[in-house]
Amino acid sequence: PLVLGIETSCDETGIGIVRGRALLSNTIASSMDEHARFGGVVPEVAARAHLEALQPSIEAALAEAEVSLNEIDAVAVTSGPGLAGALMVGVGAAKALAVGLNKPLYAVNHLVGHIAADILDVTAAPLEYPTVALLVSGGHTSLLLVHDLTGDVELLGETVDDAAGEAFDKVARILGLPYPGGPEIDRAAATGNPDAIRFPRGLSRASDREKHRYDFSFSGLKTAVARWIEQREAAGQPVPVADVAASFREAVVDVLVTKALDACQQYGVPRLLLGGGVIANRRLRDVATARGEAAGVTVRIPPLSLCTDNGAMIAALAAELIMSGREPSTLAFGADSTLPVTEIHVAAST
Ligand code: ATP
Ligand code: MG
Ligand code: FE
Repeated sequence: PLVLGIETSCDETGIGIVRGRALLSNTIASSMDEHARFGGVVPEVAARAHLEALQPSIEAALAEAEVSLNEIDAVAVTSGPGLAGALMVGVGAAKALAVGLNKPLYAVNHLVGHIAADILDVTAAPLEYPTVALLVSGGHTSLLLVHDLTGDVELLGETVDDAAGEAFDKVARILGLPYPGGPEIDRAAATGNPDAIRFPRGLSRASDREKHRYDFSFSGLKTAVARWIEQREAAGQPVPVADVAASFREAVVDVLVTKALDACQQYGVPRLLLGGGVIANRRLRDVATARGEAAGVTVRIPPLSLCTDNGAMIAALAAELIMSGREPSTLAFGADSTLPVTEIHVAAST
């Protein structure tokens, strides 16, 4: 099926067009520049930017895919989770488009979309089930057992406080680096020593294994970094930004990869799929690949361009749903800012 996907959950207006598992176009307009001076995404600004960007983005995506609007078989949209106002703009546009074209509409889960990005990787072998999936983004850090991307996603654990991407952004701010902090820390860390400072690995003690084996915590790490810097400054010593960035990044990457591979072993699943914006992190990709290989686990990483928010992953998930014979959504759904990852799409019956 030819599917047009709309993504507006945060600050990216993403329009993606797929034909089955083939990616035809993926246009992304970001309002990031407008938020940068506030040090974070401003919901009202993001919503208005979506409204302005949607129409030209849809036209650009259609042109790039060399298809016309009436050839589209289905419309897909992120219905959650995300910023309510931002989501509503995409949901409204998708409903209007589906009604106007008289085509089925699939309201899908943004987080499962991040995982579904993998499907569009033409260089990879088909996804096998079950697979453990590690979702690391700006708002979420979750470990999943995916039995079927279109029907059965099990949540093994998630962050009990900050998301990994949020920790990157907050520590970047502490270090005086611009927003968004992920790429900045990655860059600063390149020349640093990851073993310079031993920062805490959250929820990794033996006593955490019973209740929080697959859960994450990054707020203690952020505080530890802030404290370490304060002490340096109080002692009148310079802050080694590269070493702090590298050591912080190492702590995040270590705990993410350790817990993900632990889940692979525990569930007897030799497959790990990574998804979400933080997967853009070079160290995370390298460590996951190397340690996966050593553990006999095949690690799948979607192409960089599909890791951060985009419409193609939304269209890809809907195309999978259609090919699995899943029902489209009725127009009764709305934006759901806290949609749980286990709700893959808003089915007609709910
Ligand atoms: P969610 O998907 O949970 O709703 P989101 O959509 O805002 O959140 P994404 O767009 O998937 O999140 O990812 C954005 C996050 O990824 C930001 O926190 C950003 O700092 C982080 N990020 C991007 N590049 C890197 C990198 N190279 N290293 C670490 N983090 C990164
Ligand atoms: Mg974003
Ligand atoms: Fe996202």
